[in-house]
Amino acid sequence: MAKVLPEYVSESSSDEEVAQSQVHARNFANYGFKSNFGSRDEAENEFVSEKSWRQRRTVSLEGDRRIYYNCKWSRKCPVKMMLIIPHSCSDVSQHVSDASHNHELKQPGLPDDIKEAVSELFQVGVTKPNAILSALRAKGVTPPKKKKLQHYLTKLRSDQSKNKHVYFKGCLKALPQN
Ligand SMILES: [Zn+2]
Repeated sequence: MAKVLPEYVSESSSDEEVAQSQVHARNFANYGFKSNFGSRDEAENEFVSEKSWRQRRTVSLEGDRRIYYNCKWSRKCPVKMMLIIPHSCSDVSQHVSDASHNHELKQPGLPDDIKEAVSELFQVGVTKPNAILSALRAKGVTPPKKKKLQHYLTKLRSDQSKNKHVYFKGCLKALPQN
């Protein structure tokens, strides 16, 4: 289809054009230092428990590595996070953009009072979702969505199995050979 452009010359950019160029202007996140970690594992363990970030890409810059993360809810959200891993040491610094979420924050899990009630039942051996839901109803507690409950039960089970292990923290150095 041939494009027929109208003979129209405007002296200044129209409002529409200005708006258009603002949309295309790349938004660079304005990062601010948040915290330091002893290693990348330590940093990532923290994010796993936070569950707020989704890894985007890794960039090498003058020997340092930068790992960029998006807000886990939306990659279009201006809330970004970056880890800087200097090549000279194992310390990792975390930087977070000074932006606000541009979307509603979804409730990540069960409300605390329900978590507590479920956890109490779990401790006394009521571990099946349906049994928990009816026990909650019997207590007069509004039962949560089964999917959220199952998710929380997975967490309780993994916490329970973690507590059975004793973690050894530190470096295992090879013993010198005699
Ligand atoms: Zn967000």
